[in-house]
Amino acid sequence: MATPVRSRARGLFRGRPPAPPRPDVPIRGSARLDRRTKELVKRLVPGDVAIIDHADLDRIAAEDLAASGVRAVVNVAPFSTGRYPNAGPLVLAQAGVRLIDAPAAPLFEELRDGDPVVITGGEVHRNGTVLAAGRELAAPELAEQLEAQRERVVLGGEVPSPLHPPQGCAFHPRCPIAVEECHRIRPDLRDLGAGHEAACHLA
Ligand code: SF4
Repeated sequence: MATPVRSRARGLFRGRPPAPPRPDVPIRGSARLDRRTKELVKRLVPGDVAIIDHADLDRIAAEDLAASGVRAVVNVAPFSTGRYPNAGPLVLAQAGVRLIDAPAAPLFEELRDGDPVVITGGEVHRNGTVLAAGRELAAPELAEQLEAQRERVVLGGEVPSPLHPPQGCAFHPRCPIAVEECHRIRPDLRDLGAGHEAACHLA
């Protein structure tokens, strides 16, 4: 039976994480584009360069991208807008994927699926022409950013009754990042490393 993409992705993060990509080493691969990350991950193959349009890339999408074996992900929307603590970009970086933040870069207009591209630093090249000049995001910077976001988050909404907790994650009525899964499924407590634990589908 095929292993679900997400289960395979979680397996990636057990034990020692892969070495981070070296920014001075160019990455060559075929560009794969889709503004719907969920659809894109179904056709990515190892070595591809994923081009996405996904503001606040969530943990689930990041795990699926990492499990596909992509070498780099270029996002034409901000990986993290700062609206809430967002672990997705850090998950990808820790899996050894190079992240290029390139908001508003015209890659969906300039590139076709399968075009050969080269990533050097934060730049995306095709046939020697620079198509986008973004910024590479490394794991240490993303970890600091996430920590800062976690410290300043302010919650709204009403505290749910402990006698009658809502279905799914008990926190979902107050959660600014709740997704459909949060309303149905209670998350398990998981070890996130570095002394952190969380019961959250997206943490
Ligand atoms: S699992 Fe709970 S805390 Fe995590 S995103 Fe969903 S509602 Fe928010």
